[in-house]
Amino acid sequence: MLAAPSKNAHLLIVDDDHPTRMLLRGVLGRQGYQISEAANGLEALQRIAEQRPDLVLLDVMMPELDGYGTCARIREQDADDNLPIIMLTGAEDIAAIDLAFNAGATDFITKPINWPLLTQRVRYALRTGALNRQVRENRMREASVRRIAGLGFWGWDLSTGELQWSQELLTLTGIAPAAVASVASLTARLHPDDRPRLLQAFEMAQAVGARIELELRLQTDSPAIQPAERIVHLIGERGQQGQEAERVYGAFQDVTASRQTAALVDFLALHDELTGLGNRRLFLQQVNRALQQAHSNATPVTALVGCIDLVRFKRFNDSMGNSNADKLLTLLAQRLRVYATGGSEVARIGGDEFAVLLLAPSEADAEARFQHLVDALALPFKVDAHEVFITCSAGVALHPQHGSNAEQLLQQAQEAQRLARSQGRSWMTASLDAEDAGRMRAALELERALRRALDNDQFFLVYQPQMDLTHGKIVGVEALLRWRHPVHGVVPPVRFIPLLEDLGLINPVGEWVLREACQQAARWVAQGLPLRVGVNLSPRQFLDPHLFDIVLDAAQQAQVAPGLIELEITESLAIQDLDHSIQLLRRFRDAGFKVAVDDFGIGYSSLEYLLRFPLDVIKIDRAFITDITATQADRAIVRAVTVMGQSLGLQVIAEGVETQRQCDFLEALGVSEVQGYLIGKPMPADELEQLARSFTRPH
Ligand code: C2E
Ligand code: CA
Ligand code: CA
Repeated sequence: MLAAPSKNAHLLIVDDDHPTRMLLRGVLGRQGYQISEAANGLEALQRIAEQRPDLVLLDVMMPELDGYGTCARIREQDADDNLPIIMLTGAEDIAAIDLAFNAGATDFITKPINWPLLTQRVRYALRTGALNRQVRENRMREASVRRIAGLGFWGWDLSTGELQWSQELLTLTGIAPAAVASVASLTARLHPDDRPRLLQAFEMAQAVGARIELELRLQTDSPAIQPAERIVHLIGERGQQGQEAERVYGAFQDVTASRQTAALVDFLALHDELTGLGNRRLFLQQVNRALQQAHSNATPVTALVGCIDLVRFKRFNDSMGNSNADKLLTLLAQRLRVYATGGSEVARIGGDEFAVLLLAPSEADAEARFQHLVDALALPFKVDAHEVFITCSAGVALHPQHGSNAEQLLQQAQEAQRLARSQGRSWMTASLDAEDAGRMRAALELERALRRALDNDQFFLVYQPQMDLTHGKIVGVEALLRWRHPVHGVVPPVRFIPLLEDLGLINPVGEWVLREACQQAARWVAQGLPLRVGVNLSPRQFLDPHLFDIVLDAAQQAQVAPGLIELEITESLAIQDLDHSIQLLRRFRDAGFKVAVDDFGIGYSSLEYLLRFPLDVIKIDRAFITDITATQADRAIVRAVTVMGQSLGLQVIAEGVETQRQCDFLEALGVSEVQGYLIGKPMPADELEQLARSFTRPH
């Protein structure tokens, strides 16, 4: 649980308008916060450096350094992004909000100020403290969802041959819908190599109702759109029956920019430009992957995470100039790479901070190798014909002793490094104080118990109902895993599923869940209740080459129709081997299983994801539902997703519906099903059966 906010937290109010500052001080001061003020951006930066406030309220419109600029500067100073910054924007203006988040704001509130909301947001921002980054990420995701509305739709009337396009065609590609109202006029604009594919796909759609999925190069004649050759992703499907079947419905997306930059962005997002080493993010991934592999090894492996910090590197910048200092960093990176051999990784995790991962058969061995590496750094570097010596302080954390995952290990290593520096030592290994040791022991115990949980029959499933909004009936359920720990009682999945994944146990447990859920589905059918059962699949299960056979076998053994089994996948699947995942999903759907995308929230890849992944259902993340009655932006997002879902022939389920009012909104927005405490909490199968039989829609 999050700690309650400290009542006398210190807030800094930054606004050039004196009356506004007075008002803010009055309202927030009365709630017990300690307040200080700054009348402009530069003053704010100074106050922050001096007073270290707990939260900043920052006006956007200020002369000279405006709010965005100030925010960006604060973030430069505060590398951890820990300081919550709430921006006061002028209007409910999406561009302003995006700018605020891009500059690093935690949250925003619009002027004129809604006082109760402000108080709430301040409290929330303070409470989430270190979680701020996550909040911001969520908001960024929301911002990207808004951009979804820029996705276009198209249709093809098979009886008249007419092609219809939504207005986005013009805004995205510069081509007027009327200019491509027939297959012939569309073909004329295509790159000659793409024409046969288009004609064939359209022919197949018309003849046998095949799904259309194409990536085409289209020529625009609008000088405002660059480059003139647009890459457009086009998908479409024939309607199901009757008149509907006389039409193809689809969506399109201009992917020109992402095709060109995707590869570059991926690389830049994970690498340091100067040294070419991986960055912190990549390093954490690499360590976690190595730990997983180590677990599946027969012989034990010690993993050593070392963090190396250059002592007073800034003086090199001052004395040799920036470009020579950069050269020094590059040489250092090279040397680290040379000395860290054999399954090791090296990364640059900060300006003058590097990290290494070493794998060795024993602790002593790992530490000896690290010592070797530290010794190597003591040798001189040759920069511009000068010999340069560096001093570093380093810290080391070992797996399993000091942590079970990359984040923990790196943190321990960094702490050890700070300690080493303060004691003037070249490096130290993390040590555990009594409390840490206790926690670590508890974690190890949990791990040990979890390893035996499957054999000891300690897992069970609960089922959460899903109501169809058209008929007000329970039509499906989501199966949710629980662990009955012999001492701690029932453990919620957030506490043990990540651990199962770390330990490489998610596959056998996931298989158990599948079999159990299929059997329950069959029992309900036998009782005259053909409920659809959703099963969560972890992305790691997709790496199992037997997954398809396991799912198929589970359904066959239970003698349940695949149409009653809905596989819930998450967006993060798109990060894995996309083609493999798509192919596998297609096999599932061909075999009759339903596929749902869970926690739909739109990351960087989600648009693509929707277009490329064969899906039946979108489950909108609870984050968008919680405030739906109050927040226009959330409604716009849900509306965009439902419109898109409908045009792609997908069902849309809203998750986390707790109140009747949320439910009313969702119904009005065109959502097809709702799941949440309003309908029912996750419950044992027999309770669910009773609920489904006696269910009447809540009012
Ligand atoms: P999820 O798939 O998003 O599941 C929905 C979660 O939201 C469930 O938490 C459910 O109890 C909770 N929830 C449902 N309605 C409401 C509501 O109205 N308000 C609030 N506040 N919460 C609501 P739970 O059961 O703790 O599961 C957490 C997560 O654990 C799941 O999130 C899923 O990602 C994972 N999980 C659960 N079972 C399995 C499993 O068998 N396999 C895998 N791989 N993951 C699982
Ligand atoms: Ca789920
Ligand atoms: Ca979910």
